[in-house]
Amino acid sequence: MTQPVYDRIALIGLGLIASSMAHAIRRGNLAGEITGYARSEATRETARRINLCDRICDIAADAVEDADLVVLCVPVGAMGPVMEEIAPKLKPGATVSDVGSVKRHVIEAVQPHIPQGVHFVPAHPLAGTEHSGPEAGFAELYDNRWCLLVPVEGTDPDAVERLRTLWEGMGANVDEMDADHHDLVLAVTSHAPHLIAYTMVGVADDLRRVTDSEVIKYSAAGFRDFTRIAASDPTMWRDVFLTNKDATLEILGRFTEELFALQRAIRTGDGEHLHDYFTRTRAIRRGIIEAGQDTAAPNFGRGTKS
Ligand code: NAP
Repeated sequence: MTQPVYDRIALIGLGLIASSMAHAIRRGNLAGEITGYARSEATRETARRINLCDRICDIAADAVEDADLVVLCVPVGAMGPVMEEIAPKLKPGATVSDVGSVKRHVIEAVQPHIPQGVHFVPAHPLAGTEHSGPEAGFAELYDNRWCLLVPVEGTDPDAVERLRTLWEGMGANVDEMDADHHDLVLAVTSHAPHLIAYTMVGVADDLRRVTDSEVIKYSAAGFRDFTRIAASDPTMWRDVFLTNKDATLEILGRFTEELFALQRAIRTGDGEHLHDYFTRTRAIRRGIIEAGQDTAAPNFGRGTKS
């Protein structure tokens, strides 16, 4: 059996991401003990019932005491206040990390509260589902998915390496990235697409009032995929847009320009423009499959009835 990477890991916030970490850490025997804390009594009770961690604490500071690694798994907007609360109880030499979907904001909110002698290594696993809460997690969530580490300047390289070992043990491929670059890349690959999905489902909902339930009844795969994305956690996504404002607005500006160009092509009957555009986007899909980041199976490998 392999040696644990950390003696004690504390997970602060026990939703989809933390609960998947707990399962993956146990699967890989990566920690001697896992402690957990969630804000509400209901979440703590659920976590206890499903035996998610070795110990669930009613106070965040108790969960982090003596922990070698503390991972903040709360919405991006809550990272700073939570960090401030646990700071006095952190063990010297411990590492604090997070899983937030935005990195510049988290660094600015958390870094000022990191005590002397404690390492801070921000991270972001690029994996998730539209489900939330402690029962949504599963051990395989991070298998063959990327986890980006975003160390700030002057971070102890050993602390970064150890966190890399943990994420690799949980099945992830690990890369390092600068915070601003991370936020721009994620605005393109995740944040703007989520906003577009939210908008599309909102438009269809307005339309539903005109066409009764036809939008749902005859919804084809394209719209169903939008509804899955648009079912993602409202608090998490509110915080993502409020804290990655500049990059998201930049990408949405470009998106709007392209949309107008396609609109014009449709109006003027410019089939060549449409065909060239769709040929280019189809090649991107093929590239994603070749990179092993999705399946080439029809309908994303789902059964016909799903
Ligand atoms: P989740 O399932 O909704 O769980 C969030 C957890 O944070 C819950 O335990 C919740 O406590 C707690 N929480 C919420 N607001 C809080 C506050 N103001 N103060 C203290 N605790 C609070 O969320 P998740 O999907 O695991 O996301 C957690 C983090 O991972 C977010 O920063 C998100 O950006 C990031 N992330 C998410 C995904 C994804 O696809 N879901 C992917 C990568 C990264 P209660 O249950 O007690 O309310």
